[in-house]
Formats: sequence, structure tokens, C-alpha cells
Amino acid sequence: MVLSACPARLGSMVQANTRSRTPATPGVPPRRGVTAPVPSRRRWAPRLAGVVVGAGTLWVVVLAFSGESAAQLHAPGGIAIYLGTALGLIGTYLALLMVLLVSRVPPVERVLGLDALVRWHRRLAPWPISLIVAHAVLILFGYAQAAKTGVGAELRPLLLDYPDVLAATVGLLLMVAVGVASVGLVRRRLRRETWWALHLYLYLALALSFAHAVVLGPTFVGHPLTQAVWSAAWIAGIGLVVVYRFGLPLVRSLRHQLRVAEVRTESPGVVSVLVRGRRLERLPAAGGQFLQWRFMTPGLWWQAHPYTLSAMPRPPHLRITVKAVGDHSAALGKLRPGTRVWIEGPYGAFTRHARRRGRVALVAAGIGVTAIRSLLEDLPAGTDPVVVLRASSESHLVLRREVEALVKRHRGTLHLLLGSRDEVPLDAHELLRLVPDLTRRDVYTCGPGQFVSQVTEACRELGIPRTAVHHEAYAL
Ligand SMILES: Cc1cc2nc3c(=O)[nH]c(=O)nc-3n(C[C@H](O)[C@H](O)[C@H](O)COP(=O)(O)OP(=O)(O)OC[C@H]3O[C@@H](n4cnc5c(N)ncnc54)[C@H](O)[C@@H]3O)c2cc1C
Repeated sequence: MVLSACPARLGSMVQANTRSRTPATPGVPPRRGVTAPVPSRRRWAPRLAGVVVGAGTLWVVVLAFSGESAAQLHAPGGIAIYLGTALGLIGTYLALLMVLLVSRVPPVERVLGLDALVRWHRRLAPWPISLIVAHAVLILFGYAQAAKTGVGAELRPLLLDYPDVLAATVGLLLMVAVGVASVGLVRRRLRRETWWALHLYLYLALALSFAHAVVLGPTFVGHPLTQAVWSAAWIAGIGLVVVYRFGLPLVRSLRHQLRVAEVRTESPGVVSVLVRGRRLERLPAAGGQFLQWRFMTPGLWWQAHPYTLSAMPRPPHLRITVKAVGDHSAALGKLRPGTRVWIEGPYGAFTRHARRRGRVALVAAGIGVTAIRSLLEDLPAGTDPVVVLRASSESHLVLRREVEALVKRHRGTLHLLLGSRDEVPLDAHELLRLVPDLTRRDVYTCGPGQFVSQVTEACRELGIPRTAVHHEAYAL
């Protein structure tokens, strides 16, 4: 191992280039079993999903705009009813897509990553809600015009005389309430868990509005095949959510019977939580993946938070390393051995399976080292990793010894950068200085959102293709 002299801005720079055997990792019992192989990234799954979604969109648009005859369009209120019906159908279809995006279907999640799926879910969210509101308003106006009454007078018969419209209206109000709660200004004032629980009402809203579309929609009335395909799509969508979002985590938590084994202080404000469980060789985890953790203590059982595995599972143990930044993360330091733990996951596409090239560069800041640490352990031989870790001070270089040992095992290079974000900016110039062949490597970057954006932007400036840049920001 060579310890080189450091440029002024760098606290230290370590270059590890000697052979060694697999290191014993401090803090983690030796690996006794082999974990379940994580299926390699089956790219057909998202492609198939893309084709199904594309075909579904085309089908729905055609259905939406072919539901009425010319005579009906020319009748009073015809155009409003026509547009209202079409927008309602498209809006409901987009709502189904939103549900599917966060259904956690493993082959899709493993390739695209939960963060990307959640991002698309959020981007899509305003559309179904707006379209369904527009649908309700247009239908009300259209029916009022058709009945030659005012909007106020038409409201009562519309709600009470048509089957399932009252339930659908309750669903609509719930949807609007969730929409309002999700607007940045309101959301920032709510606790994350309050917002999350509130936003689950969307499922109830969609269930309440389902029946009226099938019973009243001109697209479905008298078209049993269309009705059957639409219902099957919804049943399949909800089925996927029930199985993968709720069923699989329940099965895994029951199967592995996880309990806290030990809590160890790594540095000021950072602890490692070692969790012990049964049959962990069946947990399909890859280095760099995270789980949602629910610790069953009186103060914590109601919230699940994402933490990355900071070491590969070593049956019967899993390990996370957590920096205290708020209520939940700070409370983990006080966990007692024996505390029951429920898990959801593993999730994330920040794994070796994302690799497109032979060699890799791993760039992390602060607690982002957790993903880099387990990814390093999981990387195949010959990837020649160059690891860049930035921390504000030496005491914040968490898991340093483990990373050094793993870099040594891979005969890679480690750069340790000390200083604030301003003192040590990881821009394109600096990254290229540290990793001269960066543009020919896969780049993995992990840490606080701002840091990850900075590194991905630098990679973009250097012309590294997006498919070779993998990022995990520690905020969903
Ligand atoms: C994929 C992923 C992997 C992560 N891995 C690690 C890790 O290995 N070690 C580590 O120390 N931290 C990790 N984090 C960050 C960790 O989840 C948050 O620091 C923690 O949830 C904060 O909760 P809190 O109640 O302590 O603080 P709060 O004050 O409630 O939150 C502080 C910030 O953390 C984020 N956050 C809070 N709750 C959640 C949540 N349920 N889901 C997503 N983000 C949330 C928000 O951006 C919030 O602004 C990871 C985050 C993500 C998204």
C-alpha cells in the first residue's frame, strides 16, 4: 500500500495497490453462508412493461375518443359529456399507471430502481388528478345542459340517481385532498409519515370511483369485452400492489424473524446496527441495495425508513450504518438487542448488475459510503475500482478501514478527500484529475442529493453516457 503525499486541498490520498486475501471486516461477523443469487438485470422486464404500457395507452386513447356517435355529440351538452368521458377514462388509466409505478414488481424495480420509479410516479401524479377533476366538472356541465337545468340543480340528481356516482364523488374529494397535501408548500409542513399515510387514501379513492366508470361509461356499457379487459387490468394492477408491496415484505419479515443483535458506534453520530435473522441466505440482496426498516419499539414501529446495507449479508447477520439526522435515525443508537425488525426490500438498481463497462469509479460523500462499501464487497474481480470518498473531517470517514481493505483486495485505488463541499468541490476537472480514465469507466455515485447531482452533472459534462452513470441520492 502506498500512502502518497497530498495536494493542499486533500486531507489524505491513499493508493492501495497490493494483493491481499479477502479482508475480515471489522464489525461484521465472517460470512458463513452464501446469500441468494440476485438475478442479473433482466432488461426484458422493463421493455415488456414499456410495450404493455404503450399499447395500453394507445388502446385507452382510441376507446376514449370513439365512445359517442355524431348524433350524441350534437345533442345539448354532447360535447362536454364527450370530452368529460374521454378525460375521465384517460385520467383513470394514468392513475393505474401511477399505482403500477410504485407496485415494487421486482424485475422492473431491479433494473429501473425505486428512486426512478418514484420520480416518475411523482411527475405523473398531477395529470390523473387534474384530468379526473376536469371529467367531473365537464360531466356536470354536460348533464345540466342536456337536462336544461342549472349546474346547481343538476348536482343532486347526478349524485343520487345514477349508480355509484356518489361513491365516485367521495373518491374524487379524497383524490383532491391528497393532491393538495402533495403540493410542495403543504407537504413541507406535514410530517413525512403523516403525508405517506394520507396518500394511501388514493387507493381507496380509486376503488370508490371504479364501479361508476364501468356501469355508466359509454365506452363500457354494451361492450362486455372492453369491460372485462378494463376490469382485468385493474384487478392485475391492484393484485401486483398487494403481492409485492404488502405480501412479499410480510412473507420476508416472517421468514427471516429479524432482531437487533448489536448497536455499535462508528463515529460521533453514526452507528452500525447489526441485525440477526434466520435463513438470510434466501434474501436476494446485492451490494448497494437498501431496505425499508421498521424497528418495533413503541416510538418507531409506525415508521419505515430506507437504509442501505453497509455490508453484504453474512447469514445470520445484516448490517446497516446510520447517521443521526433526525428523530428516526437518532433513535437507532438507542435500540436494544432483541428488538424485532420488519423489512421491505431489498430495493435499488445501484448494484454491480447495472455495470456497462469493465472498470468502475465509486464516488461517495459522507454517509453515502454505506452503499459504496457493500457494492465494493460485491464487485467481481477485475473491475479495478477507483474509490473517491469525501468527508468533512477525518472522524466522519465512516467505515474507512473496511473500504481500505476492500480496495486492497481489488487492487484498486482509494482517494480520501477531507473538507467542506466548497473546499473540495468534485467538479468535472477534479474528478478527471483523480480518475484520469473516468470517461471509460462506469461511475457510481452516492450521498446527499446535492452531491450526487454535482457528480452526475460533472459526468454529463465529460460526455459519459447516462447508462454508465449510476446514482443513489439518500432522499426519496
Ligand atoms: C435509498 C436510500 C438509502 C439510504 N441509506 C442510508 C444509509 O445507509 N445510512 C443513512 O444514515 N441514511 C441513509 N438514507 C437516509 C435516511 O433514510 C434518512 O436520513 C432518514 O430516513 C432520516 O429520517 P429521520 O427521521 O432521522 O430524519 P428526518 O428529519 O425525518 O429526515 C431528514 C431527511 O431524510 C429524508 N427522509 C426522511 N424520512 C425518509 C424516508 N422515510 N424515506 C426517504 N427519505 C427520508 C428526507 O430527505 C428528510 O429531509 C438513505 C435514504 C435513501 C432514500
